[in-house]
Amino acid sequence: MRVVLLGPPGAGKGTQAATMVEKYHIAHISTGDLLRAAVKEGTPLGLEAKGYMESGQLVPDSLILGLVEERIQKEDCQEGFLLDGFPRTPAQADALGEMLNKLNQALDAVINIQVPMDKLMARLTGRRVCKSCGATFHNVFNPSAKGDFCDKCGAELYQRADDTEETVKARLDVYEQQTAPLISYYAEKGLLKDINGDQDIKKVDEDIARALGGK
Ligand code: ADP
Ligand code: AMP
Repeated sequence: MRVVLLGPPGAGKGTQAATMVEKYHIAHISTGDLLRAAVKEGTPLGLEAKGYMESGQLVPDSLILGLVEERIQKEDCQEGFLLDGFPRTPAQADALGEMLNKLNQALDAVINIQVPMDKLMARLTGRRVCKSCGATFHNVFNPSAKGDFCDKCGAELYQRADDTEETVKARLDVYEQQTAPLISYYAEKGLLKDINGDQDIKKVDEDIARALGGK
């Protein structure tokens, strides 16, 4: 199964991806995670991407497309993959279509997680992520049972550098201007499944499973 998770920053893509990869045995490809790993390692790509990420802008396609093309050809993607945070523009979606064509593959669905824009600021500024396993929590809506430590692996939780109010504003603007057009892009291709992301995490999970039913 090859699926794209679409939705604004804070919609719950990463949260839902964590359960979906276990359920469907597919690879989770988060371009944000790939870029953050490159920044942490200090690779040339990471050094170039860092400034864009810190200011909430999209990194250029020249950096992102190669990263994705290489990743989707890895062994763990044979049974399928879940793209989280990519594509983010119609140009990236065109490029993805071309990559998949070359590999004789196609998307099965695009899950569009909808959350009212005015709820996203609180979700993002309260987000906490595990330094070690990457599990995502929220200090109010989905707290770790171990407070500032991960209740899955015990490591410390941290706040992403781009989850500050100022950067979140920029990221939400970027979403509206550059990413939201993908909703009609994929609707026209008959791939779009709208999901109400403004409900309990478990309910969102059930609705996604239903939308993918039979796949
Ligand atoms: P995205 O990957 O789309 O940016 P995340 O999955 O990281 O979003 O979720 C953003 C924040 O919102 C996290 O702190 C997460 O714990 C919280 N969250 C995710 N889903 C829900 C939900 N259905 N209700 C309330 N909070 C949620
Ligand atoms: P995310 O983890 O999806 O919230 O992404 C964090 C940041 O990484 C974004 O604000 C962008 O700077 C960058 N990024 C992630 N995915 C992409 C992408 N597909 N295209 C361009 N930039 C991206």
